[in-house]
Formats: sequence, C-alpha cells, structure tokens
Amino acid sequence: MTARGTDSYAAHSEIGRVRDHNEDAVLAEPPLFVVADGLGGHEAGEVASALAVETLRDHAPRRPDPKALARAVRAANREVIRAAREGIGKQGMGTTLTAAIVEGTRIAIAHVGDSRAYLLRDGTIRQLTEDHSMVADMVRRGTITEEESRYHPNRSVITRALGTDPNMVADTYEVEAEPGDILLLASDGLTGMVEDPDIAAIVARTEDDLTQAARSLADAANAAGGHDNISAVLVRISGENGSGRRSTASTRAGSIARPSGRSVLAVVAWILAFVLIVGGIGYATYRYAESQAFLVAENGVIVVYRGVPDAFAGIELAWPAQTTDVVVADLPPATQAKINETVRTSSLQEAYDLVDQYRSELATTTPGSLSAPVTPTP
Ligand code: MN
Repeated sequence: MTARGTDSYAAHSEIGRVRDHNEDAVLAEPPLFVVADGLGGHEAGEVASALAVETLRDHAPRRPDPKALARAVRAANREVIRAAREGIGKQGMGTTLTAAIVEGTRIAIAHVGDSRAYLLRDGTIRQLTEDHSMVADMVRRGTITEEESRYHPNRSVITRALGTDPNMVADTYEVEAEPGDILLLASDGLTGMVEDPDIAAIVARTEDDLTQAARSLADAANAAGGHDNISAVLVRISGENGSGRRSTASTRAGSIARPSGRSVLAVVAWILAFVLIVGGIGYATYRYAESQAFLVAENGVIVVYRGVPDAFAGIELAWPAQTTDVVVADLPPATQAKINETVRTSSLQEAYDLVDQYRSELATTTPGSLSAPVTPTP
C-alpha cells in the first residue's frame, strides 16, 4: 500500500452538538461512496438511512454507470418503503441519498434530497447536485436569495426522499474530473453550518490527509453550532485506477457536471416530472405541517394540536395532541385573547412549553383562581 493508496478516501459521520442520536449513514467502499440523511426521528431516520445504504451497496454497479446507479437507488427506495410497511422502523420514515461511483477521473452520481456532492479543485468548490428542497426551489424561482435560504424557517423541508413514493426517481450526473480533484459528499449538517468557500478553504488546508480533512470539516460545523448530524465523505480523484487513465482531462472547467439522460422518453419524463412535483409539494407540505403545532380554546380549555390551523388546498393537516386542564377563562385577558386567536408554534415541544408557561401565569397572576369558582347551586 502506498501512502496515496491508504489516503485516497475518508468518511466521517457524527452526531453534532444538538441532536441526541445520529440519523446519517455513510459508506466508503470504492468504487462506491454514499451519504444518507435519515428522516423521521428516533428508530426511524437511522433505520431508513442504514437500509438505503445497505441496499445500495448490494445493487450498485461496479462502474460509473449513472443509469445502473439510479436503478440501485430505486431498489433502495423500494426497500425503505417495504420495511416501513412491515413494521421495521416507522411509517413515514425516509432518507436522502447522494451516491457516487468513481473510476479514474469518471464519476457517476445519483442523488435524492438535500445532501450534496461537491467537486473541489485548487481551493475552489463546485456544487454538483441540486438540492431537492423547498428553499432550493425558492432560490431557483428567485423568491429568495441563496443567503436567505440558509436561515429560512423551512430550510430543512425536502421535496424528494427515499421511503415515500414508490415511483421516485433519482437525479443522475456524469462528471469528468481531473486528477487531484477531491469529491465531497456531505449531509446538510455540514453544508447548512459551513459555507461553501469555508469548506473549500478547510479542505485545501488539510487535503494531504483526507481523514484529517473530514474531521476538520466536522469541527467547523460543530464550531458553528453543530445543529444537526454531520457527515462528510472525501474521495481523492487520482485518475489511476480502473480504465480511467485518460489524457483528455476536462478543459471545459465551466461544465464539469452535466445531468445525464436521453430525450427519447421525454414525454413520459415530463408526465412523471409533473406527478413528482405535485407529489413532492404535497409531501413537503405534509412534512412541514407535521412539524408544526398550535393551541386553541375548545370547551373552555386549551387544546394542543400538531399540524397547522388552516387547511391546505382543502386538506386538514391537524391532529389533536393533548387536551389540557388549563381553563382559558382563568388566564390573564391578554393571554385569553391570544388563545382565542389561535397560537401557532414551530414544534409540539414549544406548544407544550407554552402551556406550562400559561399554567404558571395562572398560579402567579391570579392566585385565587386555581381553587376554581365554587358554585354551591344545588
Ligand atoms: Mn440532516
């Protein structure tokens, strides 16, 4: 083993500083490299990402064939759906998946969700994949800027994932890299915390030791808050393995990534795209609603709902979570007014915390009212 051989790739995945478990999964088994970011919470997200990676390993081609790689991603998708149906993990679990097959300077990529593939060259960085996320759609439409997307409240809402739609299709890319380039696959726990130029600078500084580079990227994400699980897979493009010793290194620096695909099935593709977009929006809306909560007054007490108070396209997206014992009429008038208007929160926990806060308002501001209006009527 030469030094170059032992250091041709590195994979790193960690929990970050806020989450209590790691739902990401990574794989580095040349020629296959994968990052998956599981969704759905405890005993779901990590099940989905692990299943997807294992299935992909079993089905992935040995050569950079984007179509074959996309087929393997479809198999992984079916496997996650099947598992959830059979009670492995949980209903509604899902995962992103960004996978690459590297042979010499040729890279095939298949991609679903908001994990990313990047190509790094001489301190520069180029994002190869397009995010399947609500904010990425908004940036593409020009509704918000790239910078605004980093802080948008819906930045983690993704519009395509494995585990929900049996007809899901992965984006595929074929990339002709140059010897010395570095391929990076990363979950949003890195890319959401560390900006692209900083990622490029860190890798440029540490690239002699890819294991160190991956660790340094995670350190930077943690230093920025470590809000999510952090995963990074780094691959040095040597141009030496397999049949990849090509002297025609890319001279078109502006087009190192191009989506692969044929126009033969264009009509079918357009219909499929339409169905996927509609389905994707529905799924994104559902995912968003599911994360929200609100408080309302019902039968005189505060009731906590998961979801959103207003229907989307005529569909109710609200599920009762808890009927509390907090009597609205006992609260200070300003709080009563708020409850009667419906109080929205961005998580169920936040809703419960608010109920606790209102309960303490009962105790401190109206000390007598806890003993309830005694009505000796009968
Ligand atoms: Mn994540």
